Amino acid sequence: MRPLIDAFSNLVARIRGLSYVDEATLKEIIREIQRILLRADVSADVVMSITKSIEERFEKEQPPRGISSKDYLIYLLYEELIKALGGEEAPNVDITKRPYKVMLIGVEGSGKTTSAAKLARFYMRRGFRVGLIETDVYRPGAYHQLRQLASSINALFYGEEDSRDPVAILRNGLEYMRRNKADLIIIDTAGRHRNEEELLKEARVIYEEAKPDEVMLVIDATVGKQAAAQTEAFMKYVPINSVFLTKMDSTSKAGGALTSVIKSGARIKFIGVGEGVDEIEVFDARRFVTRLLGMGDLETLVERIKAIEEEDKVMEEIEEGKLNLLTLKKHIDSMLKLGPLSKIMELLPTSMLPTQLRMLAMDEERLSNAQDMLRRWRYILDSMTKEELLNPEIINSSRIRRIAKGAGVSPKDVKDLLNYYQLMKRMVNEIKKSRRRLRFLGNLP
Ligand code: GDP
Ligand code: MG
Repeated sequence: MRPLIDAFSNLVARIRGLSYVDEATLKEIIREIQRILLRADVSADVVMSITKSIEERFEKEQPPRGISSKDYLIYLLYEELIKALGGEEAPNVDITKRPYKVMLIGVEGSGKTTSAAKLARFYMRRGFRVGLIETDVYRPGAYHQLRQLASSINALFYGEEDSRDPVAILRNGLEYMRRNKADLIIIDTAGRHRNEEELLKEARVIYEEAKPDEVMLVIDATVGKQAAAQTEAFMKYVPINSVFLTKMDSTSKAGGALTSVIKSGARIKFIGVGEGVDEIEVFDARRFVTRLLGMGDLETLVERIKAIEEEDKVMEEIEEGKLNLLTLKKHIDSMLKLGPLSKIMELLPTSMLPTQLRMLAMDEERLSNAQDMLRRWRYILDSMTKEELLNPEIINSSRIRRIAKGAGVSPKDVKDLLNYYQLMKRMVNEIKKSRRRLRFLGNLP
C-alpha cells in the first residue's frame, strides 16, 4: 500500500503545482497514472478504461464554476478510481437476521482462520454474540489455531480435534451455537486439498449443509490480478456474496487484487490490514481512494464539487416553479457551502438582493457577516413546521413571533427571510414568463 499511496500523492502534488493543464501535460499525467496502476498489478484493460474515462471527461466536461482545471483533473482521477473500485456506496455490514450464518471459503493460506476471528471481533464490538466453527480437518493446527483465537477474543467456539468428518462437525457446531444463542455464526472451512476440484466440491457440500446467509470468499491480496481467476473458480461451485481481501498491508499488488475482484462481479466487504485480530476494515472505495490520493483537502474539493451539483439540482427545481421555503432551505445550504461561488449570486440581479446578500455578492471581506445571516436564516427555517415550509403564505404575525422565538432571533429577521423568499418567487415568475414569451416567439413562422 505505501508505495501506491506515495506514487499517487506525488502525482497529485505535481498536478497541483501546474499552472495550466495543456494537451501535452495531460498526456504525460495520463501516462503516469497508467504506470502507477500497472505497477500495482492492475490489469491493462482496467488501466486503459480508467485513464480513457479521465481523459475523455477532462476534454469534454467543463469544470464546475470556480473549480480550476487542475483541481478538476484530480477530481476526475478520484471519481474514476472509485468507479473502478466498485462505486461510492460503502458495503452494508448490518446483520438483521438472527442467527446469521457466514461461511468462509478460500484457498489454503489465504487467511480464512485469521479473518474468521477478525470478523467475530468486529461484530462482537457491535454487540453481537458470535460463535466460530472450525470444519477444517486437514490442516493439523487448524482446530487449535481457531480455538486459541476464539478464546483470546471471548467468542464461542466449536470444533472436534480428532474428527475427520467436516459435515458432522458442522452439524454439531450449528446445534451447539443454537443452544448457546449465538447471533452470528462464522463457519471456517479447509483450504488444503489434493486438488482444486476437491476443495471446491467440499465447499459445495458444506454450503448445502450449512445453508449460510452469506458466503464470504477470502482472498490473499498478494496474488494481485490473479484474484479474479480465483473468484471465478469458486463462483462456479457456490454463490459468492462477499469478499474478504487479506494482507492488504503487505503487498504492492493491492490495486490489482481489488480491481480484478470487482471486475469479476463480487462485492468486497472487508479488507485485512495486518495479522492482529483488530486489523480489519470495512472496504469503502471512497475512503480508500481518499487515502490513496493522500490528501485531507481532497474532501473539501469533492464536497465543493458535489455542493455545486446539488445546487444545480435545486436551480432546476426552482426553474420548474417548485419554489417554497423547503427549496430555499436547500438553497441556503449550498450558499453556506459555496459562499460567493453560489449560482444564486449570479442569477439574482444585485439590485434585487437584500443588503446583506448584496454584500455577500460584492464584498468578500464581509462574507462572514453574510454567512452569519444565512446561518440565522437556517435556524429560522429549522423552527418552522413542515406545513409552513411548504405553504409560506400561512405564516402570519403570531407564527412569525413563535418562529423567531424558536430560532432565537428577532421577528424582523424572520420577516427579512420571508421578504427574500417573496423576491425570489417574483423573480422565478419573471423567468417563467420570459420563457413563455420566448417559446411563443419560437413558434412564429
Ligand atoms: P487459512 O489457511 O486460509 O486459514 O489462513 P490463516 O488464517 O491461517 O492465515 C495464513 C497467514 O496469513 C497467517 O500467518 C496469518 O497471520 C496471515 N494473515 C492473515 N490475514 C492477514 C493480513 O490481513 N495481513 C497480514 N500481514 N497477514 C495476514
Ligand atoms: Mg485455516
